[in-house]
Amino acid sequence: MAQKLQPTWDLDVIFPGQSSSEEFQHFVNEVSKEIEVLTEKVNHLNVNGHVEDWEEILENLETVTKKSREMGAFISCLSAQNVTDKQADIYVAKRAQIAAASSALTKIVDQKLGAITEANWNLLLEREAIKPLQFILQERRERAREQLSKNEEILISDLAVDGYHAWNQMYGTIVGNMKIEIEEDGEIQSYSVGQASNKLSTPDRKQREYIFRQISDAWKANEDLFGQTLNHLAGFRLETYKHYKWDNVLKEPLAINRMQEETLNTMWEAIVKHKPLFVEYLAQKASLLNLDKLSIFDVNAPIQSKVEKKSYDEGASFIVDQFRSFSPQMADFAQMAFEKRWIEAEDRPGKRPGGFCTSFPLSEQTRIFMTYSGTPSNIATLAHELGHGYHQHVMNKVNGLNQGYAMNVAETASTFAEMIVADASVKTAKTDEEKLTLLEDKVSRSVAFFMNIHARFLFEKQFYEERKQGMVSTERLNELMIEAQKEAYCESLSEYDPHFWASKLHFHITGVPFYNFPYTFGYLFSQGIYAYAKDYEGDFEEKYNALLRDTGRMTVEELAQKHLQVDLTQPDFWENAIGICKQDVQEFLELAKKLEK
Ligand SMILES: [Zn+2]
Repeated sequence: MAQKLQPTWDLDVIFPGQSSSEEFQHFVNEVSKEIEVLTEKVNHLNVNGHVEDWEEILENLETVTKKSREMGAFISCLSAQNVTDKQADIYVAKRAQIAAASSALTKIVDQKLGAITEANWNLLLEREAIKPLQFILQERRERAREQLSKNEEILISDLAVDGYHAWNQMYGTIVGNMKIEIEEDGEIQSYSVGQASNKLSTPDRKQREYIFRQISDAWKANEDLFGQTLNHLAGFRLETYKHYKWDNVLKEPLAINRMQEETLNTMWEAIVKHKPLFVEYLAQKASLLNLDKLSIFDVNAPIQSKVEKKSYDEGASFIVDQFRSFSPQMADFAQMAFEKRWIEAEDRPGKRPGGFCTSFPLSEQTRIFMTYSGTPSNIATLAHELGHGYHQHVMNKVNGLNQGYAMNVAETASTFAEMIVADASVKTAKTDEEKLTLLEDKVSRSVAFFMNIHARFLFEKQFYEERKQGMVSTERLNELMIEAQKEAYCESLSEYDPHFWASKLHFHITGVPFYNFPYTFGYLFSQGIYAYAKDYEGDFEEKYNALLRDTGRMTVEELAQKHLQVDLTQPDFWENAIGICKQDVQEFLELAKKLEK
């Protein structure tokens, strides 16, 4: 990459004219209209009529799906790049409307898939055009068949608006109104929960503890309200499960993630077995921070050491070079993304915080959003998002209906890309202190997935069991949270966070249940592939691409069996994956001890 890169993205090649684009306005109307027309068509479909009719419906559905995603992606870009863009806000509302229409359409299609007779179903699946869609069609038909009657389903989803999702909104409203007072330089400042939480990363221990106490007090003051929101949304969920006759609260989240409970158990067992080394890391970190033991609010504290910054151009070449050592195609993709300006990385006011990668399946392009200021964490984020972009890139030619991968494999390519770059950053560190900081950053990520997320999982599982018997009191919720954290952190901390069940939004999400274990799965799945790639003798790149291409059309067990020849219900794969994480801990411990002398 010889020329100087521009850190702003080009949206005009997709729709010219930003949020006032006439082409885009026209496109949005078209998507909305097409969903309407297709819904009409599906409503009038004779499910056991001609199989050709189904072929046509599924073809239309693919087109509409791709168009909706294209539209949604453009809106995401508009609203992220400029938070004051009023037209973008209007489009965000429009997108929600279209999403509702589109999910209603999906429901009808699924019901109809469930109503096809066995004989006709077999005929349909044998059609050449349908064969590639077998997995997702079977899946949708099975789910449709577990549903209650059409009227009962309608009733549940109508009542869910105010009786279920409303609890999540209520949660958001209460959190939005919370103010946390923090004294800084002799003056009391009032902050939102998010702003105050960001201040927990201060290297000043006293200040960190003070901020943690202030935040904890605020959660405590509202705990009875959150006890209500959590109990009621869980109550609604369990009540529907009862009607579906599902006794296991993990049934739904496992199905969404296309994985078996055995796989999940084997994964956690392997993690638990290797926790002692991570406990050693926590003890070493305590010693670096001059503490006897870490408190929960010290786990993510920085270990203070200056790390060298890289300009955008330097960061870009570093990423492309490191990708190349693993996969020339990945490197070429990243280089193209930089040169064609698929990335919005400029450090300027008015941008939304955070980072994401969004796909334009019709244009076969992706866009990455982030704010780049040159830190190693920025470079890691950039690599991460490029990983997502690459995932979409290899999926471009896959049928649109087979591009829907679940949360637990969604992070495979991104974590993989991030790991390549994080490893390279450690290797090229200029001083031992810098190296220690970079290693610490890597290990703290493993700790988050193995301990913090494990605590969330343990809590949620126990909470749902107790909720089956009735309301769970706030005292009990606090108790359950502490028990879960003690178990997950192997009792290695001096203090825990009893109100974490209230402060973590994820417990209050109604869209998806158990918004926790898929993170850990995704992280370790990626580590396992990394371990595999390092030992693989043949053409890993092609193998990797083939795996990514299949992420939206099989279970995770099938995916691993087909592409990595491993059985995820057995410990071997997980052992290898955790082994990669353990190497970092060992290196960190050795280096920390050397520097202490
Ligand atoms: Zn990601």
